[in-house]
Amino acid sequence: MTSLWLDRVDQIETDTFVPDVAYDDVVVGGGLTGLITGVLLSRAGRRVAVVEARFVGAVTTGHTTAKVSLLQGTRYSAILSAHSEEVARAYLEGNREGQAWLLRYCSDHGVPFEQRDAYTYAGASAGAASVRKEFDACRRVGLDVTLEDADELPYASYGTVRLRDQAQFNPLDVLTALAAELRARGGVLLEDVRVKGVDVGFSSTVSTDSGTIAAENVVLATGIPILDRGLYFAKVTPQRSYAMAFRVPGHVPQGMYLSTESPTRSLRTASYNGEEVLVVGGNGHEVGRHPSPQSMVDELTAWTLENFPGAVRSHVWSAQDYESHNHVPFVGKLPGGGGHVYLATGYGKWGMTNAPMAALRIAGEILGGQMPWADTLGSRVTKPLAALQAIQYNAEVGVAALQGWAAAELRPLPDEAPAEGEGVVGRRDLRPAAVATLNGRTCTVSAVCTHLGGVVRWNDAEKSWDCPLHGSRYAVDGTVLEGPTTEPLERLV
Ligand SMILES: Cc1cc2nc3c(=O)[nH]c(=O)nc-3n(C[C@H](O)[C@H](O)[C@H](O)COP(=O)(O)OP(=O)(O)OC[C@H]3O[C@@H](n4cnc5c(N)ncnc54)[C@H](O)[C@@H]3O)c2cc1C
Repeated sequence: MTSLWLDRVDQIETDTFVPDVAYDDVVVGGGLTGLITGVLLSRAGRRVAVVEARFVGAVTTGHTTAKVSLLQGTRYSAILSAHSEEVARAYLEGNREGQAWLLRYCSDHGVPFEQRDAYTYAGASAGAASVRKEFDACRRVGLDVTLEDADELPYASYGTVRLRDQAQFNPLDVLTALAAELRARGGVLLEDVRVKGVDVGFSSTVSTDSGTIAAENVVLATGIPILDRGLYFAKVTPQRSYAMAFRVPGHVPQGMYLSTESPTRSLRTASYNGEEVLVVGGNGHEVGRHPSPQSMVDELTAWTLENFPGAVRSHVWSAQDYESHNHVPFVGKLPGGGGHVYLATGYGKWGMTNAPMAALRIAGEILGGQMPWADTLGSRVTKPLAALQAIQYNAEVGVAALQGWAAAELRPLPDEAPAEGEGVVGRRDLRPAAVATLNGRTCTVSAVCTHLGGVVRWNDAEKSWDCPLHGSRYAVDGTVLEGPTTEPLERLV
């Protein structure tokens, strides 16, 4: 499932890992957050290493839909349900600054982007009230939106909030430019190096699967923090969703659209080999909790073909992002990190503006900058209702854990290897095991997630093992793909 953005031939230049080197700052993660943070710190003359477990853009940034928008679905009404107006305004201010930084960066570095209007619309009459509520929330926080009809869409809609002059781009163009600037300023960019732990001391020791390095500051720009201090895995929900690109005959809507109701529908255009394509997204669900992710792909494809007759699919992909239980990202110092370990998580699928916001905030803290919106976000107090939702989510995690273990205990692993592209979890020698066949090869691994012991489930779309607790994902052979874990699933022979 290669995304439209990763379907390219140009390579990003990287460096070779040298053990026992001391850096000023080690940034863990080569997505948008990590690379912007690395660039900001290296611009200040600091010696920076960005350490990426897979390759630049491998995880969410390479699989996003990359709308760079301050209108973000129903984000402002959600924030106002959990926080004061002051916090919602600070969120907007931080995102505005992040968006301005990123688009200025694109202009200065020849990275193409297109200016487009953003729309939040109701695709069913039941969503009309949410549109009105979002319009009021946007106006309250100071966003210059209008209430309109979505005339451009080829299907019925029931009210639309519009924000003019937002942007869309190809996220790999931006990552490529950031990686080049990082290295041009003396920064080091490492791929295929997974960080396993950080020992905090006078200077921190960062252990990786290739050796150790040292740093004054460590920034965890890993999507969800890989260290469990601060229990951030219990403060965010991992949400997986699907995207695809289509060649469409005739008119393609030019705006960037997102529906309010579930299943969500997201639209934007993009350019592929000089041709305009339509990017369609949606069908989000909690990671590892859907019985058949492939059915989500099939349903989204069918919806597109119904509404854009003659459309031909060229790419399909999926990705996950982390929704903060109180709708505002967590950015700043990690508890127990001695004041020198930073984290950024919980962008809720709005990382194109939240990643630069977080990078500006973290680099600002390291370099001694002052941002009033960051102080407001850092000292926010969550309303009791949002706190209750977090408790409910964690109760659901507990149920998913029990269900996974019970199901694995009940049935023994079948004697026959699963058919090509299939995987099954069962009991083997009294422990949960997972067996799958891919490209003619059958692998058996422990089914117990190495993060916090959930039992993984088969993802029939991605052909992966996904943990329903906190979103760790593994390849068929147990290799880590993403999520809070740092260790592979144990191989069983
Ligand atoms: C389907 C979908 C559509 C989206 N659409 C939009 C949109 O239109 N607009 C918008 O604003 N946002 C959107 N988002 C959200 C946005 O894409 C993300 O918030 C953003 O890309 C996150 O960037 P990041 O750098 O924090 O994380 P990532 O891009 O995931 O980067 C984290 C990196 O850390 C690495 N890593 C993890 N663990 C380790 C380790 N132990 N050692 C070393 N490296 C490690 C990973 O390999 C990864 O490359 C969307 C998200 C999804 C899922």
